[in-house]
Amino acid sequence: MCACRDAYRLKKQPLLRNKPGSFLKEGVLIYFCSHPFAPGPSFMATQKKPTPETFAFRAEMQQLLHLIIHSLYTHEEIFLRELISNASDALNKIHFRLLTDRNVVDPDAARDIRITLDKDARTLTIADTGIGMSREDLVERIGTVASSGTLDFIKELKKDGGPVDAQLIGQFGVGFYSAFMVADTITIDTRAAHPDSVGLRWSSDGAGSFTIEETDRTSRGTRITLHLKEDKAEFAEEWRVKQIIRKYSNFVDFPILVGEERVNTVDALWHRSKSNLKEEELNEFYKFISGDAEDPLGHLFLNIEGRMSFRALLFIPQTAPRSLFHESYKYGVHLYSSNVFIQDDCQTLLPEYLKCVRGVVDTEDLPLNVSREATQHSPVMAKIRKILTSKLLGLLGDWATNEPEKYATFFKQFGILFKTGLGGDFENRDTLIDLLRYESTATEPGAYTSFQQYVDRMATDQEALYYVLAENRLAAERNPNLEYFRAHDLEVLLLTDPVDAFLIPGIPTYADHPLQSVEKADLKLQRDPEEEEEGGLSEHEAEKIVERIKSVLGDRVEDVRISQRLVDSAATLVTGSAGMDTQMERMMMMMDASFEGGKKVLEINIAHPLIRNLSSLRGTDDTLVEQAVLQLFEGTLLAEGSLKEPQDFVARMLDLLVVATKPTTDEAS
Ligand code: ADP
Repeated sequence: MCACRDAYRLKKQPLLRNKPGSFLKEGVLIYFCSHPFAPGPSFMATQKKPTPETFAFRAEMQQLLHLIIHSLYTHEEIFLRELISNASDALNKIHFRLLTDRNVVDPDAARDIRITLDKDARTLTIADTGIGMSREDLVERIGTVASSGTLDFIKELKKDGGPVDAQLIGQFGVGFYSAFMVADTITIDTRAAHPDSVGLRWSSDGAGSFTIEETDRTSRGTRITLHLKEDKAEFAEEWRVKQIIRKYSNFVDFPILVGEERVNTVDALWHRSKSNLKEEELNEFYKFISGDAEDPLGHLFLNIEGRMSFRALLFIPQTAPRSLFHESYKYGVHLYSSNVFIQDDCQTLLPEYLKCVRGVVDTEDLPLNVSREATQHSPVMAKIRKILTSKLLGLLGDWATNEPEKYATFFKQFGILFKTGLGGDFENRDTLIDLLRYESTATEPGAYTSFQQYVDRMATDQEALYYVLAENRLAAERNPNLEYFRAHDLEVLLLTDPVDAFLIPGIPTYADHPLQSVEKADLKLQRDPEEEEEGGLSEHEAEKIVERIKSVLGDRVEDVRISQRLVDSAATLVTGSAGMDTQMERMMMMMDASFEGGKKVLEINIAHPLIRNLSSLRGTDDTLVEQAVLQLFEGTLLAEGSLKEPQDFVARMLDLLVVATKPTTDEAS
């Protein structure tokens, strides 16, 4: 803009139609000056055509600039990421051009990005040896915002009055202009790669217009100088600038130099070939991106080409972070688009049940200039997620088969999380089921079996896979419902994660065998006929005692039955026809205090001395029988942790102890 701009302002003009060379800004009509520029001595020395050409920003651009200049931002430091990523793009472009065409300006120039800071002058300069820009580029690309996302961006910014998250800017393809958050004037000195190109200088204060003039620049590339706003002097500080580079641009392929020092020290590992990835570097990279102090448990490197094209370097930690189930846990991979950082913690690319996975995805298929919303919903993202999920499950499957200890470590740390996948990932359901691991009565404590391994061990006449839900292995092993299975050498899976209670009912069968809870009342268990006879009570006696117990317990139970599954214990409670497992009920109660569990079936062991005694007492001492039955019932409730009011139980126990300890008549006399 010419220095005499103000002389051409016609204040408070009525609305006039915009003409070339003029524009309306806040009700003020501005004409562009065509006067010869009044150059200072230093300017004169480099000037070929002394007349800068002035261009008006388009209306949409003006609105955008107004917002950028006048809004308050958080994360405004991202302007540097944007400028570095433009420089890196420009370097990539010349890199590819040089592969086939060396007829360019400075074909041998080192490809790097140099940042120079001047605290006194309050300037930040970023120079690259990239493809450079022609006059047309400056007008069409820098001068206009082509992206259709821009209007959305403007709306987004306008929506709420508070400070705007500048991270949004990068999502909307207005990267270069984000520099106006921190700079009051910006100058671009550039020369395009073509040998006939000329040096050009673009300059603007973002207020409505920009100028372009020729310079005698001889070298290829672009130098952008920001004259920082008074309160943004921090961006001329070396430590601050280095900090921003390390945070946002550490993996940019080209060296970023501040002074003579290269700041981005970490190479983009995922761009190497698999054979060039060293374990040590991978570990360091993992620690850098995850903040974890330990090496990862393992990694997955992907280089997908074809209809989709992306690279990924993913890691599985050794230990679950303590915050894994907290709201504060940020999950997701770092998303890069053609080596340019787009987003931390991109959740869209991983299912939640794999939220322990950390890493980087770099794709060429994602346009940079779309809104965050659009990125999240892009079909590209959905496809990448699908591939990542199946490859990660493939890696875990490979561990499970070839490195079972490694897989067990993973499962111990992340099993609870992993199992939640069964609730949502129907596509990979069978794979997920195969990857489940449980302790069982056939494994050592702490060791796992898969469903398949269980099935492989099953006797030919065993129909079902049996499981018991319990709080821990010890509680599971003490469950009286396990007695029959133990006595008959039938393996029972010990399901001790709270989530199992919800998960397992959703897996009715495995390899055509039903999964059955040992607590389910309708278990069809075969008993040895010889064993039956050892019961000691005749069928009639058994029926009578069952009737008696039923009449004492009334509607506190769904039914009373003769047990097939008890060996040592006198009684057990099992789930009724439509009921839930005890462990499941307990979970429901934890979540909802008013939840009432369903009625249970009391199974009695007619071979047990107590049941036999009660049978013989029948008709002689009704009170004692009644008390003993109640005690037996409440004792089983107590053992499974569901006796709500133990006072009656304790009082009754004392009464029974009095009877039991009563001296016989002989001793009394
Ligand atoms: P985006 O990078 O999303 O396209 P920008 O506003 O940041 O949006 O940049 C607009 C365009 O200006 C770029 O696409 C590129 O063509 C050009 N440009 C910006 N910076 C440079 C640079 N350092 N070297 C060459 N071209 C550049």
